[in-house]
Amino acid sequence: MTASRYDIVTIGGGLGASALARAMAERGAKVLVLEQERRFRDRVRGEYVCPWGVTEAKELGILDLLRRNCAGELPWTDLGFGPRNLLETTPQQLPGLSFSHPEMQEALLAAAEAVGAEVRRGVTVERIETGQQPVVVAAADGHTERIAARLIVAADGRGSQARKWGGFTLEKNAQPFLFAGVLLTDVSARQDMGVFIFNSDLGTIGVVIPQGKARYRAYLGYPTTVDYRLQGSEKLGLFFSESAKVAPVFAEFHAASTSDPSFGQGMSLTLRDVRVLRDELLHNSDWDQAGHRYAEQHDAYFHNCHTATVWFRQIFQEQSPEAALRRQRALPLITEDLTRVPDHIFSGPEMPLDDSVRSRFFGES
Ligand SMILES: Cc1cc2nc3c(=O)[nH]c(=O)nc-3n(C[C@H](O)[C@H](O)[C@H](O)COP(=O)(O)OP(=O)(O)OC[C@H]3O[C@@H](n4cnc5c(N)ncnc54)[C@H](O)[C@@H]3O)c2cc1C
Repeated sequence: MTASRYDIVTIGGGLGASALARAMAERGAKVLVLEQERRFRDRVRGEYVCPWGVTEAKELGILDLLRRNCAGELPWTDLGFGPRNLLETTPQQLPGLSFSHPEMQEALLAAAEAVGAEVRRGVTVERIETGQQPVVVAAADGHTERIAARLIVAADGRGSQARKWGGFTLEKNAQPFLFAGVLLTDVSARQDMGVFIFNSDLGTIGVVIPQGKARYRAYLGYPTTVDYRLQGSEKLGLFFSESAKVAPVFAEFHAASTSDPSFGQGMSLTLRDVRVLRDELLHNSDWDQAGHRYAEQHDAYFHNCHTATVWFRQIFQEQSPEAALRRQRALPLITEDLTRVPDHIFSGPEMPLDDSVRSRFFGES
């Protein structure tokens, strides 16, 4: 057992941890990143960053780095109403961005190291000790180490153990949908557009996102009420046949299974979290207070993103007699005037979100 002291230790080396490590090490903090994977494999964890997340990447000083190393621009999107130019129709006037998730992780960890962060791979955090002198207990190659830090950042992903160790309450909404994703290689198709199309009759959503180098990620989101589960490579045929039912475009593109509760905004939210936490830590020498101020802001913008995605589900995906009535009222009006659809997913949580926005979307005004 040895002991050493850092300003910040991150549990995990994904987008959140590596972006924060780079931002804080660049400003002189002593940062240690502990990542259990020695080599990142492809996993279904998203490749698309919407324009409001691209602004966050720019604010964090990593946009050019991503562009140079792994990311391509997607100025176009199609939600099933025809191609939309994001450069002309979002407040940010920015495109979406897409990359292979493991390539992005490698690029950001290397960037964090380049500005002085220490990155250790193949190290698994086993527990933390909270209090005035927080400590991370980490294991690698049969050796256990206690590492003291002024701040421990739990950035260990959606199955986070650290949030349990830290005593955080986990709030979970009912999530009656599942997402399955496959990586398609050697596909020749449009490289500058992300496609996200709902089929309200089936309660499904099909998604295709280019990742560069002729690779695409295809997703199918489906209600848990169906009598199949898309898990494992033997379900690939079913994945394609069910995707083809969503819209004809998906038949032309010829697994892991889990759920992304935020309709492709997860990485944008992560980048916002990093930027807000960075700013609070840099402007407040009391890091306990800084952490609480970050949490308050997080709750406010997360609430907006979450509310907008729940509305999307209620209009486009939910399968019930009430939902069918809702659609009967809303869809003809939306088809006539697309500005009735709240644009938080692309334009960000600062877009207005009040009763009048909801009534216009639901066709109640
Ligand atoms: C199916 C699916 C699709 C998605 N699609 C999108 C999308 O298109 N766009 C989008 O914006 N978001 C998407 N997301 C959300 C996105 O994946 C997350 O927002 C993002 O990965 C969060 O980054 P993170 O760094 O917090 O966590 P992660 O990327 O999960 O990184 C956590 C890291 O911690 C490491 N780790 C875990 N436990 C330990 C431990 N005990 N010790 C050491 N290391 C540890 C892991 O190995 C991992 O590298 C999707 C999510 C899912 C599940």
